Amino acid sequence: MLIAYDPIYAHPLPEGHRFPMVKYELIPAQLLREGIITENQILKPAPLEEDIILQTHTLHYWRQLQQQTLSDKEQRRIGLPQSPALTLREITISRGTIDCALHALEHGVALNVAGGTHHAFADRGEGFCLLNDFAIASNYLLSQHHVKKVLIIDLDVHQGNGTAALFMGNDHVYTFSMHGAHNYPFHKEVSDWDVPLPDGMNDNDYLRTLQDCLPVLINKVKPDFVFYLSGVDILETDRYGKLKVSAQGCLLRDELVFTTLKKHGIPCAVAMGGGYSTQIKDIVNAHCNTFKAAGEIF
Ligand SMILES: [Zn+2]
Repeated sequence: MLIAYDPIYAHPLPEGHRFPMVKYELIPAQLLREGIITENQILKPAPLEEDIILQTHTLHYWRQLQQQTLSDKEQRRIGLPQSPALTLREITISRGTIDCALHALEHGVALNVAGGTHHAFADRGEGFCLLNDFAIASNYLLSQHHVKKVLIIDLDVHQGNGTAALFMGNDHVYTFSMHGAHNYPFHKEVSDWDVPLPDGMNDNDYLRTLQDCLPVLINKVKPDFVFYLSGVDILETDRYGKLKVSAQGCLLRDELVFTTLKKHGIPCAVAMGGGYSTQIKDIVNAHCNTFKAAGEIF
């Protein structure tokens, strides 16, 4: 098991910002402390090359990110103030997801400490997402003929709207999103398969729903690669999630995904996605559980 991490992932934001960047420092520290990984399992990704970005994003949008020319309105939609460091962070994270995918093709699984930026569209960002790392990595794997059919399993509590739009009508990438029906984004795009969940859903109902979907997905799509977005904003402690999944339920979710993929011999790259519990330890523990489950099952 390899993990992708660079200190730029925890790029500091102006005071008072609600997006908890600190988790990106705390996750690798806790993984090391608990002995889930060793230093030599941490890969520091390089920034992503432009030609790879342009397989997914428009040249105009990429130039805006490079030259810091997003309008105030565009920055507000993203929810983060533009800066050269933020752009560097995004391209490093996206390269991390590609590196994880390449490692997973050889060894089964790899996890990015950040990423899962599923609200980014070809020509714009929103919801803390600037570049869509799963889309970039999917297009890269396909263009390099590493894979023929990609499945994106998006279990973040928010719909993967950018990913859905990017791959609409694309036969090589199947998008699956299980998300809170009444959560952001309030205008949902159409994934290949959307499973909207009611507010207040508990562990049993959540896990049963996922358990019903996974075998159908694998049989229908027959993917040779999976990207898994393991957002922990499904937790009952999450400020925005609206679901009632416990920490144990969240771990069982990850185990369900990994055991299914392992059983079918499908390699998997994982990105962390969202998590907005009031207590940072709830967020970090849940993300660390994802790494633990991946290490034990693969
Ligand atoms: Zn989310």
